[in-house]
Amino acid sequence: MKAGAYESNTAWAQGGIATVLPDSQCSSGDSLACHVADTLDAGAGLCNEAAVRTIIGEGAATIEDLIGYGMVFDKQGERFQLGKEGGHTYRRVLHAHDTTGLEIARALIESARNTPNITLLEHHVAIDLITTAKLGAVADDRVLGAYVLDARTNEVSVFRADRVVLATGGCGKVYLYTTNPDSATGDGVALGWRAGASIANMEFIQFHPTCFYNPGATGPEARSFLVSEAVRGEGGILINAKGEDFTLLSDPRGSLAPRDIVARAIDGELKRTGADCVYLDITGKPKGFMPERFPYIYENLLKYGLDCETQPIPVVPAAHYQCGGLVTDVAGRTGIAGLYAIGEVACTGLHGANRLASNSLLEGNVMARLAMAHMLRRFAPGKPAPAAPAIPDWEPGNTAEADELVVIYHNWDEIRRLMWDYVSIVRTDNRLRRAAARLRNLGKEVREFYWGHRVNADILELRNLVTTASLIVDCALRRKESRGLHFTLDHPATADHHCHDTVLRKF
Ligand SMILES: Cc1cc2nc3c(=O)[nH]c(=O)nc-3n(C[C@H](O)[C@H](O)[C@H](O)COP(=O)(O)OP(=O)(O)OC[C@H]3O[C@@H](n4cnc5c(N)ncnc54)[C@H](O)[C@@H]3O)c2cc1C
Repeated sequence: MKAGAYESNTAWAQGGIATVLPDSQCSSGDSLACHVADTLDAGAGLCNEAAVRTIIGEGAATIEDLIGYGMVFDKQGERFQLGKEGGHTYRRVLHAHDTTGLEIARALIESARNTPNITLLEHHVAIDLITTAKLGAVADDRVLGAYVLDARTNEVSVFRADRVVLATGGCGKVYLYTTNPDSATGDGVALGWRAGASIANMEFIQFHPTCFYNPGATGPEARSFLVSEAVRGEGGILINAKGEDFTLLSDPRGSLAPRDIVARAIDGELKRTGADCVYLDITGKPKGFMPERFPYIYENLLKYGLDCETQPIPVVPAAHYQCGGLVTDVAGRTGIAGLYAIGEVACTGLHGANRLASNSLLEGNVMARLAMAHMLRRFAPGKPAPAAPAIPDWEPGNTAEADELVVIYHNWDEIRRLMWDYVSIVRTDNRLRRAAARLRNLGKEVREFYWGHRVNADILELRNLVTTASLIVDCALRRKESRGLHFTLDHPATADHHCHDTVLRKF
């Protein structure tokens, strides 16, 4: 963990985890087949149907595991309470009030801390993977470990391992406006890319329609405060300043259409009216509903001076989720032997061109289970690991400390602003090409200047941010159509001959 144990997208997740439970517990009429169909529908032709079936099929067993680790879901009597979110035909989202992710994180972290053979290292940053190919043995490419920085001492160590699991999360921080915490800088994708893993579908970045619009905010939590989709699931409606439900003009499902459609409707409304934000109106619910069902959201809004029981909530779209990542199978395996990727950093084929709400906590937890099962089979205890070549120490830079921190922050800001301006909800070829050119220059600067300095966490994140942003732009430039989360004015239609993943490899 490169920061504290609770600084992660998981700990910030609110709405819940989508799962079809066995008959007696699920909504009447719901089925695995229906959850699969909703997922394929949101994915706009690019889901890997076999992966979708496997991951959704493992949901109920994974929920049982989580409960076994101490996770507590909301119940009414003996039955789980099930929420509804955009794109889901039935109520099937298990939750723990509106802090589901924090409850998952708590259960797993506490459980890990109580397990003697697990050591949790906070404030340790993986810099680069070590593979046989990187040491010159291209024919037998397997992982040997990673170089890791202790962010408190700035010392770098070699961590040797014949199995490495990347579970580094997403890359929301590539964009100026995001619902993600500061740690979401795309590190895993950048590490995997530099190691030669295949990276796919990075053009599909999901923008969450309802991030609290709070222009005077300081601090990451206030800037990135999400108002969960589950609020719309419970009757919240998006309106403009005149009180009109403008989303109905884009889709008959209105505020509960899939996120890409709703985010584009808001983007269009903001451009059309010149307004800074739109509003999420949940004032129609009886008094007491919001504090009971969404206590975290309710209290937080009150903290910022807004009573959502009587006032509509100002909201804007913000970068939320990375659908692409390291290409893996449903055991979490990448193309490099011993290297696994799970969670938001991976591209299993579940999400295709657009993620269905609450499917990512499901994917991360299911894939952790499947990857562990595979590792136990493949690397049985006692089975000797193949001989590993000698691993050179990390080569430190040639000066003591980066004395240009201010410039690093400027570069960081420039990347996030240019990604927001040129590579966000509505794209064009021209804007993408301009973004690519500017990112090339920034990448060169990072390599030639900062990389000569002794590393620290800021430089590492800047390096990963440039790489991940460039991969998003490269993927977007290759997709000459609009599909799912990728919408370009130059190619507004969906084209059958583009119905395939965008896959990139460095070597
Ligand atoms: C505000 C918000 C609300 C959400 N709500 C929902 C929801 O209701 N339902 C749902 O399904 N999904 C939701 N999501 C998405 C979901 O939370 C994430 O996709 C998921 O939790 C990602 O889990 P992960 O384990 O892949 O990554 P994370 O939970 O982000 O964990 C990544 C970990 O990797 C560490 N790390 C990163 N880089 C490095 C490095 N270089 N070296 C060492 N460690 C590193 C980080 O420190 C962190 O501990 C939400 C996301 C956000 C931001």
